[in-house]
Amino acid sequence: NRLTRPDLASLPSYVPGRNPADLARELGMAEAIKLASNEVPFGPLPGVVEAVAEAAALAHRYPDPAAAALRAALSEQYGVSADRIATGCGSVALAEHLARVTSLPGDEIVYSWRSFEAYPIITATNGATSVRVPNTAGHGHDLTAMAEAVTDQTRLVLVCNPNNPTGTSVRRAELDRFLDAVPDDVLVVLDEAYREFVTDPEVPDGLTAYGDRPNVVVLRTLSKAWGLAGLRIGFLVAHPEVAAAVRKVVTPFSSSTVAQAGAVAALAQAEEVRRRCTLVVAERERVTVALRKLLPEVPESQANFVWLPLAGAAGQGDRAVEFARVCESRGVIVRPFPGEGVRVTIGSPAENDAFLAVAESAL
Ligand code: PMP
Repeated sequence: NRLTRPDLASLPSYVPGRNPADLARELGMAEAIKLASNEVPFGPLPGVVEAVAEAAALAHRYPDPAAAALRAALSEQYGVSADRIATGCGSVALAEHLARVTSLPGDEIVYSWRSFEAYPIITATNGATSVRVPNTAGHGHDLTAMAEAVTDQTRLVLVCNPNNPTGTSVRRAELDRFLDAVPDDVLVVLDEAYREFVTDPEVPDGLTAYGDRPNVVVLRTLSKAWGLAGLRIGFLVAHPEVAAAVRKVVTPFSSSTVAQAGAVAALAQAEEVRRRCTLVVAERERVTVALRKLLPEVPESQANFVWLPLAGAAGQGDRAVEFARVCESRGVIVRPFPGEGVRVTIGSPAENDAFLAVAESAL
């Protein structure tokens, strides 16, 4: 069948977290707990629902393609000029656009592995070649090896910090050395989707640390700490030329009127976001301590999830898959990475307790 590209058959699919309502029905439970998509356990921020409802009155009109109000709000929030900002339908779309504006077939995109599962997909759909650099034994990025993997064909390097799914982070000194080693004409994306949960002062904020480096792009999302996963807004801060190139290739009108309005309302709630992140971080520390009693190799996480290294075989098959299956049978949805481990999102204290109870019996 030649209706679609033959190489798509071998491309992995992006696996979304399971719908908790479906699982609850299947198990005959009142509700299931979803700790599989790194969402925060709070409702929308104050003012978001109202802003979305109000914007819905303009549903018959196209949205502002330049997202001027949203870019102005981001500009104010982060202290960067609006010409350095591009917004998109989630940061995953912007990562795809960055591949599109940098890489042609035959070009190489370097990233570490294991990292965010969208990277191989956006590389392949753009016809570029993935160069995967294995993580260190501690489940973090090997920045020395990543710098060495850059060749004349490399156009883009993706550094997820903190890393999804392992939660590990790279610190200022090693990131400085890495950026010094990468040629100026290779774009380096710091994917900081989980930046708001970082508490280690040694982990740099890309916006303040690297704003003067033209080949660095900082990718952020409103899906995680800002609680807008369902509205789909991400943004990037880059050199004005790079930001303009991304705005050029964005699918026209892909950020809806309601999404833009909801994002502007959310950005007015920075104080509340900080308060919520503090709660998540406290739970992250509690869950990590409890899990390490069962699995001492759990790495330190600077994100809103923890990583359980569960490589290898279990009695009935893959350890990671088996652990996730046991969790699901008890109404807790987590994210297995077959042969590698399991990622568990930090939920509310009660959700985390439910997960830890399952983990205690399953590990
Ligand atoms: N980057 C990383 C590292 C992520 O984990 C995710 C979401 N899982 C994204 C980007 C994309 O998030 P969104 O498209 O919702 O902004």
